[in-house]
Amino acid sequence: MTEKLQPPRGTQDLIGDEYRRHAHIIQTAQTIAHSYGYEPIATPIFESTAVFKRTIGETSDIVGKEMYTFEDRGGEEVTLRPEGTAGTLRAVISNGLTQHLPLKLIYSGPMFRYERPQLGRRRQFHQLGVECLGIAHPYSDVETIALGTQVLKALGVLEKTTLEINTLGDTESRQNYRQALIDYFTPYQNQLSKDSQDRLLRNPLRILDSKDEGDRALVANAPQFENYLNETSSTFFAQVCQGLDALNISYQINRRLVRGLDYYNHTAFEFVTTELGAQGTVLAGGRYDGLMSQMGGPETPGIGWALGIERLALLLPALDGHDRPIAVIPVGEAAFSCCFNLTMQLRDRQLMTDIAYSGNVGKRLKRANKINARYAIMIGDEELTTSQAIIKDLDTGEQKLVAISEISDYLSNLI
Ligand code: ATP
Ligand code: MG
Repeated sequence: MTEKLQPPRGTQDLIGDEYRRHAHIIQTAQTIAHSYGYEPIATPIFESTAVFKRTIGETSDIVGKEMYTFEDRGGEEVTLRPEGTAGTLRAVISNGLTQHLPLKLIYSGPMFRYERPQLGRRRQFHQLGVECLGIAHPYSDVETIALGTQVLKALGVLEKTTLEINTLGDTESRQNYRQALIDYFTPYQNQLSKDSQDRLLRNPLRILDSKDEGDRALVANAPQFENYLNETSSTFFAQVCQGLDALNISYQINRRLVRGLDYYNHTAFEFVTTELGAQGTVLAGGRYDGLMSQMGGPETPGIGWALGIERLALLLPALDGHDRPIAVIPVGEAAFSCCFNLTMQLRDRQLMTDIAYSGNVGKRLKRANKINARYAIMIGDEELTTSQAIIKDLDTGEQKLVAISEISDYLSNLI
């Protein structure tokens, strides 16, 4: 016997309720983002490897060990996108959209990271993200975080999360802090994990994000970023916090929050939950003022976030029952074409309708129940002569005679 084909490790088929949860998250976020003026954008799921290497940072987990990179048949180095920001900014630059700032863009789709699969951690997973480009004002950060808050609220998961925020300061503050970290960690160099020894040389801030126990013990006494922020940076952060207070958005300041990507400055934030084990971050983002110029575009401030659709789906309360169809049941061959016409008329009204093709009336009614139909419409020889149909309410069992020509109006009003 041929071996059964399996989905690749860390991937998942989206079927039934799983698919509906997914679609519900996207639909909800898009509707809310629309009210903030966001426009949808779709970019390729693979890009030249340089798009990610140059932006996400060589010392990040993503570039270091998670990218799906390969040479295509023409010898081009390409990578399946591990996140959405780099590709979106690449598209903005490639299409000359930097002439039309400010821009607010929303995307969603599959992302790829070679990780050890766990609950809420997949090799192909889905993100929905927003990018707000061209606004340096701290209230742009407030607005972006408010959008995330509103999306989580509408999905019924806000109470299950905590908003953590931090500032990574401007370039000057980060450089001062960087030096302080190097001075602090260098004497302990040999006690650091191998990854963190590498980070110490290339990006010491990243050590703060280490999940290694030994590193964490050293991190506990490391200098605090707070003490290295210059005036511009602390004022900016204070304004963001004030803006959130004014909107009654609750948050916790987490001075250790640095985010896994290299390109952030000023505001960094995460909505975290304790319900998904180590995979606690459901929506995360930050400000990335230097990113656009680093990619060869004009100096452009920006801020954005991305939410993990699978992780949110795990938190989502049960969805309301989805649309229930109408079952049209011909009783005898003679009524079939009349029933078929009626089915098409109901579909013209956007009513989900199915016609039963085979079996006796009992069987067809059983099938109507199986597909969770709301109403069944039955037409037989007698109904054909009187031009009336039996409409059965499948919840109450109640039956009614309605003129066939009036059924569309009748059901449109009911559903
Ligand atoms: P983590 O610390 O959990 O690895 P991350 O910092 O790598 O997260 P981001 O790059 O900020 O995550 O991605 C944004 C969101 O995408 C995450 O908060 C999470 O909800 C989701 N996400 C990231 N990686 C995965 C994955 N492998 N599988 C499922 N969802 C993911
Ligand atoms: Mg990760």
